[in-house]
Amino acid sequence: MSAPARRATEGQRRGRRSREQMYKDIYPLRVLGMGLGLWVTCSVLVQIGELARFGWLSFLTMVVWPHLAYLHARYSRDPYRAEIRNLLVDSAITGLWIGLMHYNLLPSVVLAVITTHDKFSTGIKRLWLYSLPGMVGAALLVTLLLRPQPVWESSLPVIIATLPVIALHSLAVGYASYRLIRTVARQNLELKELRQRDAQTGLYARAHWQEQAQAVLEGARRSDRPAWLLMIDIDHFKPINDVHGHTVGDEAIRAVGAAIAESVREGDCAGRYGGDEFAVVCADTDEAQAQAIAQRIRERIAALRLAGLPELRLTGSIGMAHAARQHITLRDWLNAADSALYRAKHEGRNQVASTAPLPHPA
Ligand code: GH3
Ligand code: MG
Repeated sequence: MSAPARRATEGQRRGRRSREQMYKDIYPLRVLGMGLGLWVTCSVLVQIGELARFGWLSFLTMVVWPHLAYLHARYSRDPYRAEIRNLLVDSAITGLWIGLMHYNLLPSVVLAVITTHDKFSTGIKRLWLYSLPGMVGAALLVTLLLRPQPVWESSLPVIIATLPVIALHSLAVGYASYRLIRTVARQNLELKELRQRDAQTGLYARAHWQEQAQAVLEGARRSDRPAWLLMIDIDHFKPINDVHGHTVGDEAIRAVGAAIAESVREGDCAGRYGGDEFAVVCADTDEAQAQAIAQRIRERIAALRLAGLPELRLTGSIGMAHAARQHITLRDWLNAADSALYRAKHEGRNQVASTAPLPHPA
């Protein structure tokens, strides 16, 4: 399996695993968040004089529930779905407490906003929306059953108990966003790298190679530094496919790609141009250096032995072209290297042919 395909499969596996493990990630956050909620609800119950009546419910919903939620997801056949149900119950609990706290404004708004925010942060589509009927329904139910008189203002202990919830939640959200931004940036980089590479050989893909070659041509035209383009094509490749099959053909392409990668220098740009054709662009390179690189590639290809088919001999032909004044576009330069390659093929293959060194572009 190629490296990008392996990475994609690994990514899918990780995605599935993280779905199944969601309840484990949420568990400590629920314990912490609801643990802080215990102080908020109890402080309001003290303010409205109902601690003795509903203190047990605060303990049940804020301390016991997180563990029940964990066990429910853990022993469920589908932990992911079970955890979604848990998240909906969280919202219903908040609705319940909005009524029980006599709509005390500060804690009611803070708990409602945080509980709804938690739905957004799961990334599950519309979960926040589906959580609202439960929250509103629970608040209405308490209103109908207990007819609580609104107590809008919060006492100082209620404010003090609510502050850590606000502070910790803001910091946690900030940290999660920070991690997300870092992950997205890293994945964007990986994606860019993947797009730039040919999946089979790991060399640059054609489009990216062309961009690099274009930049080298423009650089050579602007300066008096020479540059060379090498076109490499595997000799008699079709018969390899026909006789040994495409799997062996693919293996040969990978081996030739590796031989080219090993033969070029650090700053050279090697790409797969398509099929059994490869291209290398060498900036700041004189003819002798370009010749040396081309010969190295040719010799390495000739020395290749495929693991399962050691008797198979591979050779490659190489056409070299110097960035010349008349090469206005990359196509011109490629055409020049192509005609040299054609000559190498015509003159017997397994050899390097070069365009006659031309005056360097002004
Ligand atoms: P020549 O010496 O003149 O280059 O002859 P050749 O047989 O190599 O001819 P050519 O370069 O035109 O053949 C390219 C062949 O490469 C044609 C196509 O079927 C095959 N090919 C292109 N891409 C792949 C690939 O990814 N895997 C395999 N196995 N074959 C490929
Ligand atoms: Mg060929």
